[in-house]
Amino acid sequence: MKYVEGKITVENMPELTLNWQEKQQNISKKIFHQQYSKHPGTVRLGRDPAQCDLVFSDLTVSGLHVEIFFDSAKHAFVLRNLRESNPPLVDGRAITYEEPLLHQGSTIYLGEVKLQVSEMELGEPEGHTLPKQVSYGLQCPNCGRHSSYDRIALGCQWCGTSLTSAISVVIPPNSGEG
Ligand SMILES: [Zn+2]
Repeated sequence: MKYVEGKITVENMPELTLNWQEKQQNISKKIFHQQYSKHPGTVRLGRDPAQCDLVFSDLTVSGLHVEIFFDSAKHAFVLRNLRESNPPLVDGRAITYEEPLLHQGSTIYLGEVKLQVSEMELGEPEGHTLPKQVSYGLQCPNCGRHSSYDRIALGCQWCGTSLTSAISVVIPPNSGEG
């Protein structure tokens, strides 16, 4: 998890990386939640470039074979088979109607092509992303205690010192000051 000032950065977007070999070459592709694709909401894998976002040339892969999407309710990437006659294998199991969750390290066979989920970042479930409540105040240059911003014209609420040269500070919640 990467937080910047209580906000979630784009690095927290759910994504996974698939690796496979084609013609002796290592190929690596990322799949993002809500990425642009030919069938919005899912990323489709197969041999037909008109229908698929990740296209394979191996003849054992079906034209339209499987799709991978991020299920927000399950907070996981899910694989769905799109072709009954050539079921993919996910982590050693033939998948026809079930929709297995993918994990880091999962293996997927489309025909004879072996794909591996080499990386996975799921981010935070929705509802856990509320930024922390913080407020800002002024630190008295004399006594070092905190006053709220509206004291800038009045002076430190503790010792009365002018706050015009005070520095701004983050006042933690429930600090009892300010
Ligand atoms: Zn003071």
